[in-house]
Amino acid sequence: MTGPVSQPRKPVILTVDDDPAVSRAVARDLRRHYGEKYRIVRAESGSDALETLHELKLRGDTLAVFVADYRMPRMSGIEFLEEAMDIYPLARRVLLTAYADTHAAIEAINVVDLDHYLLKPWDPPEEKLYPVIDALLDAWQAAGDRVIPHTKVIGHPWNARSSQVREFLARNQLYYTWFRADEPEGQRLLEAAGEDGLTLPVIITEQGETLVDPADADLAATLGLTTTPAEDFYDLGVIGGGPAGLAAAVYGASEGLKTVLIERTATGGQAGQSSRIENYLGFPDGLSGAQLADRARRQAVKFDAELITAQEATALEVRGAARTVTLSDGRSIGARAVILATGVSYRQLPADGCGRLTGAGVHYGAATSIAAECDGEDVYIVGGANSAGQAAVNLSRHAKSVTLVVRGPSLESSMSYYLIQQVGTIDNIKVRTCTVVREACGGDHLEKLVLEDQRTGQTEEVTCGRMFVFIGAEPRTDWLDGVVARDDHGFVLAGPDLRNVCGWTLSRPPHHLETSVPGVFVAGDVRAESAKRVAAAVGEGSMAVMLVHRYLAEA
Ligand SMILES: Cc1cc2nc3c(=O)[nH]c(=O)nc-3n(C[C@H](O)[C@H](O)[C@H](O)COP(=O)(O)OP(=O)(O)OC[C@H]3O[C@@H](n4cnc5c(N)ncnc54)[C@H](O)[C@@H]3O)c2cc1C
Repeated sequence: MTGPVSQPRKPVILTVDDDPAVSRAVARDLRRHYGEKYRIVRAESGSDALETLHELKLRGDTLAVFVADYRMPRMSGIEFLEEAMDIYPLARRVLLTAYADTHAAIEAINVVDLDHYLLKPWDPPEEKLYPVIDALLDAWQAAGDRVIPHTKVIGHPWNARSSQVREFLARNQLYYTWFRADEPEGQRLLEAAGEDGLTLPVIITEQGETLVDPADADLAATLGLTTTPAEDFYDLGVIGGGPAGLAAAVYGASEGLKTVLIERTATGGQAGQSSRIENYLGFPDGLSGAQLADRARRQAVKFDAELITAQEATALEVRGAARTVTLSDGRSIGARAVILATGVSYRQLPADGCGRLTGAGVHYGAATSIAAECDGEDVYIVGGANSAGQAAVNLSRHAKSVTLVVRGPSLESSMSYYLIQQVGTIDNIKVRTCTVVREACGGDHLEKLVLEDQRTGQTEEVTCGRMFVFIGAEPRTDWLDGVVARDDHGFVLAGPDLRNVCGWTLSRPPHHLETSVPGVFVAGDVRAESAKRVAAAVGEGSMAVMLVHRYLAEA
């Protein structure tokens, strides 16, 4: 333990309005109803409010709800919320508008992921203001922002497990402060925790509990995520918490099926790692994968789906009418039907040195927690598809230079047109085509890469501290071996694709997304011949639930 824990300060509700009378009125109404549990902070311009936010953040305060006026001189409410989101991403967002500005407010729903727009005047507040704020405070509390800002992670940038833990926390939207073990503040914290720093990372929770290199499940449970199912038997078990699994959980639970979702790492899946999804219907300005995952998670929880994190499904068995799934902690759950939505995982780069340096400069995927630390560095991205392009655009905001290493002769065959255009307009992104990484070199961390030009066979050594790898993905479905029919690459076969496969035992043909095991369905990227897109995964997850109903009605 690190010693006595100070009383937590009240979370903040922040209001911004340039009209002093309105500003006072909204603060007064909020204080009257929420003053006991929340601190109401008032600002009269967007810039003042941002300054206040920075101060609150430095002091480790939490922020529950922003209420911002739309029409403010210099910085509009939407512009303010856009910046405020970067400082407090979990705070809920309300825009105060006049009737004439309703159109702008509706647009803001996409731009700043607005939760609600409130028409002025809001009298009586009991009818128009408090129900809205109550619902948002519930959502904010459910997201768990109360505990997390004070979690401290002490580690080292070149310690692979430190990188994994940071990524795990970031993807689960568990906020933490990072300290390097070789810097004075990190050393002070290690000393206070009674740790010598030989085993990293060390995590100190808000309550002062110390965890040394914890397993993901222990870390998740300590920080308040649900890691064990509440029941032994469900109507529907969904395996995998990416877009397909989350959609299945939302539809299953909202249609009255007792639903549990089992997720190995963090809900959101691959999509959760996307810096900007621009082709998902209904979001013309794009939205980040983290936002999509957060909304879907809240939606699933709202309908009472149970979301289990940091548990892997390791076996599937058929026991009469029940489908039994074994979990990584040895427990098992039964379900009347199962939807497999386990997606795909990054393929490993087969260059010398990569395995040893993974997490120490070599990263798979966007590694969102680390990306922001590439300030002034020359970073390399391997891959020529959309995920690599998105990462290049994102990293170009931090890094000195970003080099895309592409095996093919151009990006045209592998990347969407809109991304090629974006990449082309950013000065600090370079593209090296017909090039592969032969070797990753370094002592305890990545220092150099050996690149080979495939046209000439010539190799070149380049200085590089960080390499992000996006060279495609493959399903990890070995745990289904001998139970569910898969194609040669491990993708799960379903419906009409099962035609030439033995094992189907019923007289009726399999339903469209049904696997070789009746009552076990598949959705999203893990399905053979799937589209590998967010919208397709969401569509299949929803459709699989409809087929589950059909199966259960027949059973
Ligand atoms: C960086 C990046 C950017 C992208 N950008 C876009 C884009 O802009 N537009 C677009 O349409 N698509 C995009 N994609 C593709 C899109 O994200 C995927 O098509 C989509 O996420 C597939 O959803 P899914 O639910 O099928 O699988 P996944 O998202 O892969 O989710 C599967 C989940 O299952 C979990 N899991 C796996 N095995 C187990 C197990 N045994 N037990 C428990 N859990 C398990 C995984 O941890 C994972 O969370 C992007 C992908 C990446 C990587």
